[in-house]
Amino acid sequence: MAKVSINLATGSLQKEELIVGIDLGTTNSLVAFINPDGNPQVINDTGKGLLVPSIIHFQADGSIVVGNEAKEFLTSDPENTIFSVKRLLGRSYQDIARYRDFFSYKVIDDNSESLVKIKVGDKFYTPIELSGFILKELKERAEHALKIPVNRAVITVPAYFNDSQRQATRDAGKLAGLDVLRIVNEPTAASLAYGIGLNPDEEKTIAVYDLGGGTFDVSILKIQNGIFEVLSTNGDTFLGGDDFDRAILNYWITENNLDPEVLANDQILNQGLRLKAEEAKKALSTQNLYNDSLNGIPLAISKQKFEELIAPKVQETLDCCKKALVDGGTKAEEIQEVIMVGGSTRTPMVKERVAAFFGKAVHDQINPDQVVALGAAIQSDILAGNRSDILLLDVTPLSLGIETMGGLMDVIIPRNSKVPTKAGRQYTTSVDGQVNMKISVFQGERDLVNENRKLAEFELKGIPAMPAGLPKVDINFLLNADGILTVQAVELRSGVKQEVAIKPSYGLTDAEVEQMLLDSIQHAQADVQQRMLIEARTEGEQMLYTAERFLEKNSAYLQENEIVETKTYIEALRASLNAGDKDLIHAKIDELNEYTRPFAERVMDMAISQAMKGKQIE
Ligand code: ADP
Ligand code: MG
Repeated sequence: MAKVSINLATGSLQKEELIVGIDLGTTNSLVAFINPDGNPQVINDTGKGLLVPSIIHFQADGSIVVGNEAKEFLTSDPENTIFSVKRLLGRSYQDIARYRDFFSYKVIDDNSESLVKIKVGDKFYTPIELSGFILKELKERAEHALKIPVNRAVITVPAYFNDSQRQATRDAGKLAGLDVLRIVNEPTAASLAYGIGLNPDEEKTIAVYDLGGGTFDVSILKIQNGIFEVLSTNGDTFLGGDDFDRAILNYWITENNLDPEVLANDQILNQGLRLKAEEAKKALSTQNLYNDSLNGIPLAISKQKFEELIAPKVQETLDCCKKALVDGGTKAEEIQEVIMVGGSTRTPMVKERVAAFFGKAVHDQINPDQVVALGAAIQSDILAGNRSDILLLDVTPLSLGIETMGGLMDVIIPRNSKVPTKAGRQYTTSVDGQVNMKISVFQGERDLVNENRKLAEFELKGIPAMPAGLPKVDINFLLNADGILTVQAVELRSGVKQEVAIKPSYGLTDAEVEQMLLDSIQHAQADVQQRMLIEARTEGEQMLYTAERFLEKNSAYLQENEIVETKTYIEALRASLNAGDKDLIHAKIDELNEYTRPFAERVMDMAISQAMKGKQIE
């Protein structure tokens, strides 16, 4: 039975706990709930505004501020002000190497496949922790505004987010003290906000056009039986409202003959002009002329001029729409609804061009920067069982996954996934010449497998001997409508394959499931901390392995002092592994990397030219 209490903010009766919907955006984040009238509403905590800029500032005294307060430090204290962390979530350094100059803070470059870290002062943060700070701020604002505890949430992510990015978002929620009931695609949430897809008899193909601050996404969705299937996505991770601001700024620079060099050295003027450009852009969404000045510099621009400047960018988004249609196997005429999402779709020209492209009026009645959060709140309400008109599809009550390095649980099918469902991930070996791989299947929410329930264990045998990291082992989970889980492992290079079938619900009572969930919530934060420590340790061990092999193989190309120094760094890293401090381990990994990088490159070049010479002689 649900407990009922009085909401002091609204004076109405309210269930003790409610589930909020969170839009964790690249530029802005926000949290919404279903108000006592049954309508979704964005939470506005006492004058702080609806949108929380997704920016974190580390103050000199070690404290952290999030949102508008942090935004002020973007230009004055760039190394300690973290923005756009969503771009790093669940990403490895190799994923983001191409655009590292975009970040004004320190993204650790260890040139590996491990997940990126950010260095602030002498501490290391993962994007999960940083996103956790933003989510914690949202949770606190919601609690403050609603005067009730907020412990459960639905969080949205872009449709193109992969498993690792989704898992990272869940973990960030855990760190913030939130039980993340479901990760929902942003376009799906936007659609729900418009009531599209709420009727299970409805069958539709829709397009969701999302132009935010720095990113553009278009998704083509097929809705059938209340299920949203992503037919295709397209977009540009560096195209958004920021480009519109920049276009205006550059126009003013030319108009006023401003010296770019002078401007580059005057951060305050630069930032001031940037803010004015954004202000002008927003004004031009409702008026035909913007006219202002800053330090005597006249700042004027007409709507017509603005549209001329941004036309190529808008065209680029339409090109993406064209590709998305082709990939989704559909045509503009077949799209039944077009939904506008993201603050930048407030620009009238954007709406006009998109409507013309699809040949129909677009949905823009709901605030485009709120629509995703509002839809997430509706999804929460459905999960809470408050919408009797909507059929709750069968879901799996506990997560299913396998054991990875260090005894960690790697979730493959998250709890609350609709069944039937299929998911998989690719793994590799950690030791050279490894020919067998043990696959242990677990069920539960804890980060360490030994706190979870073991379902099965089997061995994939006959992997051809290869260097560590080369074999590609696909592990696929298929949970059918009867609750039977089939786990299949296949090594792609050789084709060796092994399979088991299990019934995860076998011998498990409802009370036990509930207890497992309660335990996981109680231990969530400690669990994630421990997971991060184990991950740091595993990364450290891999680094030791690589560094030691490097010394063994290449001692001939190294100078004596380089060998001695490297060994000192290796020993320091080894010593840090058992200290129980992940920051220390990351610091030692970083130091070993920094020290060896210059001569590692030199040795590589030498080894290659040596090998080539060898070939020529033969
Ligand atoms: P994200 O999804 O990337 O977090 P948002 O959807 O909040 O971002 O969009 C932020 C962008 O919307 C910013 O570039 C902002 O300047 C722009 N924006 C906000 N209001 C308006 C407006 N009235 N007219 C045009 N652009 C706007
Ligand atoms: Mg967004």
